[in-house]
Amino acid sequence: MSKNQKTLAIIFGGTGDLAYRKLYPALYKLYQNDYLNKNFAVIGTARRSWTDDYYREVIVDSIKELKSSDESASEFASHFYYLSHNINDAENYRELLDLAKQLDEKYKLEGNRLFYLSVSPKLFGTIATQLKSGNLLSDTGYNRLLIEKPFGTNLKESNLLDREILKTFTEDEIYRIDHYLGKEMIQAIPMLRFGNPLLKKIWNHHYISNIQVTLAEDIGVEDRGGYYEQSGALRDMVQNHILQVVSLMLMDEPDCYDSQCVCREKITVLKELVSINEDNISEHIVRGQYIESADYPELMAYRSENEVSTDSEVETFVAGKFLSKNKNWKDTPLYFRTGKRMKGKNTQIDIVFKKDLPLLFDDLELSKNVLSIHIGPEEGISFKMNDKKAGMLLDSEAIRLKYKEEGKIPDDYERLLLNALEANKTSFVHAEEVSESWKHIDAIRAAWKDNKNPIEFYPVMTNGPKKAFELLEKNGHEWIWD
Ligand code: NAD
Repeated sequence: MSKNQKTLAIIFGGTGDLAYRKLYPALYKLYQNDYLNKNFAVIGTARRSWTDDYYREVIVDSIKELKSSDESASEFASHFYYLSHNINDAENYRELLDLAKQLDEKYKLEGNRLFYLSVSPKLFGTIATQLKSGNLLSDTGYNRLLIEKPFGTNLKESNLLDREILKTFTEDEIYRIDHYLGKEMIQAIPMLRFGNPLLKKIWNHHYISNIQVTLAEDIGVEDRGGYYEQSGALRDMVQNHILQVVSLMLMDEPDCYDSQCVCREKITVLKELVSINEDNISEHIVRGQYIESADYPELMAYRSENEVSTDSEVETFVAGKFLSKNKNWKDTPLYFRTGKRMKGKNTQIDIVFKKDLPLLFDDLELSKNVLSIHIGPEEGISFKMNDKKAGMLLDSEAIRLKYKEEGKIPDDYERLLLNALEANKTSFVHAEEVSESWKHIDAIRAAWKDNKNPIEFYPVMTNGPKKAFELLEKNGHEWIWD
């Protein structure tokens, strides 16, 4: 496939935070690596009345830490055009169409169009409808729609959102972004699982005792208290990132490594998860909220944060236990936890192997084998195993073999944008995955309404409430990362 991608990217929300911090730097990296070369142009649209020149200054500023030279930065920025835009005004779409046609000709883009909606999902439906009625969809090249979470706040809203978008774009043309799927070590999961005969053979309940997914943040809600009050950790992190990781960890081997085969297996995982409801919620879910601690007097409780209600019941932490009906995962819990103001920033998956096979050295203190996938901030793999302790005596010690990814690791958005340009949908989320995920989340939230699973408080800079530890202890397990 040719490296030089021919495309017109139209970014709605071109003045926003996501565009500035993620999209422009990612596009620049693709440009530096020649994936974008001469034949690309970007139209940024938003409400503000910026000029092309001012927009280009913003672009140059957004890549100041990446640029190889001033010339490279300004040549890159020269491909950017700005249109002040009211998303409800049909006249604005006529202007957009005119500019799109001009740029298509000027840069020889073959009619390829990528529509990136970096705006609130409330606007997705209107924009999609206007794109269709304004004839913005190309009939000579491709049309691809890129959208970001949150995909609604529950199943009903998410289905409604899909119905609106599907009036303009086909499912094949929709690229739903979960940026975790662009992370190096998340991308490595299928290779680890299905590229190693040893792991492939033992990836089931016969050998695996439990799996643990941790997405920990040490920051609080910062200036996003208002947003967080509406979302909470369950909808902000579990509905998307955690359930995506769960799918990749538990899926059966796909028939092939393309988006259709992989997606089919991931949907099956979500369908096979035992649903959590008001009858079993206390055995499965712990919800928490951070409070102050004498050890960190400078850090405030969630309820004291800006734009947060003083009696808020919103969770800043969730831990849980998923079980699957799949015969490969009989009685094998997949534990997860995610939260703010935890002990450190760390995303990791731990696969804990069983120790209950008869072993020659059972009379010694043997540890469980643990395979850890380190997703961030450090990327790599480690494996905990038993070795003979050096010396004259026969004694065991647990050692950790560690492989750290070095070198240039692509940024999530750089990778996902390239995947979208190349029509590779393996790392994007299908509508059915979104709706199956919402079914689990809605059921948990419905059970929360009856207060069968009250908020447990945890001091800032700890790994969650006591109950999150008891969740595992009840089954004779313990968190690997602590
Ligand atoms: P932002 O508030 O910084 O930017 C929103 C953009 O939308 C602005 O350019 C604004 O001018 C434009 N806009 C809003 N209403 C408009 C209207 N009526 N007509 C035309 N333009 C309009 O938001 P953001 O942080 O850039 O996030 C954009 C989307 O991406 C949101 O849905 C957010 O949830 C999602 N998201 C953001 C991040 C992030 O890191 N910022 C991460 C994941 C998902």
